[in-house]
Amino acid sequence: SPLVGILSLQGDVREHENVLQGLGAETLRVRRAEELAQVQGLVIPGGESTVIDKLSRQFGLQQPLRDAIAAGLPVYGTCAGLILLADTVIDGIEGQQSFGGMDIDVRRNAFGRQTESFEADLAVPVLGDEPVHATFIRAPIVERVGAGVEVLSALPDGAIVAVQQGNLLGTSFHPEVGGDSRFHAHFLARVRASVRSAA
Ligand code: GLN
Repeated sequence: SPLVGILSLQGDVREHENVLQGLGAETLRVRRAEELAQVQGLVIPGGESTVIDKLSRQFGLQQPLRDAIAAGLPVYGTCAGLILLADTVIDGIEGQQSFGGMDIDVRRNAFGRQTESFEADLAVPVLGDEPVHATFIRAPIVERVGAGVEVLSALPDGAIVAVQQGNLLGTSFHPEVGGDSRFHAHFLARVRASVRSAA
């Protein structure tokens, strides 16, 4: 089974570990470039993108992560993780950087104060007919997608909340807290395919 890293600088690392291990993957907490070099896929958890960004630079992980993404490492970002995969972040704090890789513009904290968190049943055709029960917590919205980006799900008002581009997958919400493992299974299939094609 593939070794899947979880970027463990800040955020809901444990929840991702539980889901991935439940699906039969081995996991490794990634805080250093040496650990990143060992994994065949990486999850960037939800948490606070500004903190993960700063810590990744302090830990010397930003450039290795950008290089790994450019080399085709499968990466799945949830919420803060999606923000970190976006080429452009709107409403970031001053000096906020992302790893990038996805040709998207993402707005942080896009739902405003009235709706800091909410749940919704989302249609996600690529995962089958059953909707995904999604938990949104101070969530971002994808405001622009480039030509190479596939929209996997949007809210009824059109707000894009799940996207995929090549080996990169991102969701505004947290499937890891909702008990639905289909997004992680979808990601693991991508990790396994990329391991096979490299062999
Ligand atoms: N608002 C957070 C950020 O900007 C994301 C929240 C989350 O990951 N649940 O990073």
